Amino acid sequence: MKITAIRSHLLGYELPEPLGYSQQMYRHRTAHLVEVTTDDGPTGWGECFGAGPVARANRTIVEEVIAPRLLGRDPLDREVLWHEVYNGLRDHGRGGMPLEALSGIDIALWDIAGKAAGMSLSRLLGGRFRDRVPVYGYGMMLRELPDLAGAFAEEAAALEAAGFRAVKMKVGRGVAEDVRLVEAVRHALRDSTRLMVDANHAYHTADAFAVGHALERLGVHWFEEPVVPEDLEGYRELRARLAVNIAGGETECTRWGWRRLLEGRCLSIAQPEVCALGGITEYAKVLALAHAHLTPVINHVWGSALAVAVNLQLLAAMPPVPGGLHPDEPMLEYDTTHNAFLTELAQEPLAIVEGVARHGHVDVPDRPGHGVTPDPEVLRRYALV
Ligand code: CA
Repeated sequence: MKITAIRSHLLGYELPEPLGYSQQMYRHRTAHLVEVTTDDGPTGWGECFGAGPVARANRTIVEEVIAPRLLGRDPLDREVLWHEVYNGLRDHGRGGMPLEALSGIDIALWDIAGKAAGMSLSRLLGGRFRDRVPVYGYGMMLRELPDLAGAFAEEAAALEAAGFRAVKMKVGRGVAEDVRLVEAVRHALRDSTRLMVDANHAYHTADAFAVGHALERLGVHWFEEPVVPEDLEGYRELRARLAVNIAGGETECTRWGWRRLLEGRCLSIAQPEVCALGGITEYAKVLALAHAHLTPVINHVWGSALAVAVNLQLLAAMPPVPGGLHPDEPMLEYDTTHNAFLTELAQEPLAIVEGVARHGHVDVPDRPGHGVTPDPEVLRRYALV
């Protein structure tokens, strides 16, 4: 089997209302899918992290920098190909966009491997520890509203009513306002519903401690990206001195980036992003490294139904840490804001919302590969040139 073409598909549309997090407001939803075709084998699909102009730049890296190295090669040699590409690009970037681009291609190669073997990715990775996973609803994005706390409380209650037993909200409008937002959401939820808070590195360490102490008092389950990813010492201090779990790592790439975070004892919960850190080939190494440090992993998930499907497979194949009769199961992160690429793209629906409504969990598909084939009509309708 040989790789005959590697092509990016950029998709986008304008959101019904601008949404934001602590770093920016955005008006457009983007997705970047990668299609790898073979001469006499299956076609594979992957996805790259990165929105808007970043996706456009990543398309150039996929099609003009990485693809020429891989045409004519055996797609099943994914470990070999990964190292050739990484070694070739090392001098030009050991994280960020080159790794995001490589991630989408690597995921497509794993999809091909699964389809060629007639196995789902979870079985290809060594088998399924679980056939269903709990889901947490990510919503409560920042918006320009006079009563954001009231809107957040309503949205949180609606997510709970839809069956989510864990929800995540954004903060990043300053310490006092952020604490008010979290109080409003916490009081809108039942005590048994988990609440997570994501700052997208809005704070310096002193402000992160101020917010963190409020989150301890409010029983928040984790405090995500409190400080910038460069500030490993800040992470370490927060983790050592706060009772709330410190989560992070979504911007970190490769085993070498993760090694610093884990050996620095920076995180209570690791959140690797498979569509950015180097794809499934590298994710497996990052997972092993996290587990070597007995650090639980709850994958960061962003993007289309394809990224969700890949993560469902990874979560099914993830060993429990530390194990036992009643382990704390890894959750699937699921974007509940307006996202046509979650609801319209897959020819084989993942039935996330239906699963959550029924029992708060979602069943992990067991189709060959990651189990999602993008609908060609949807690719045409949302195509960005
Ligand atoms: Ca985040």
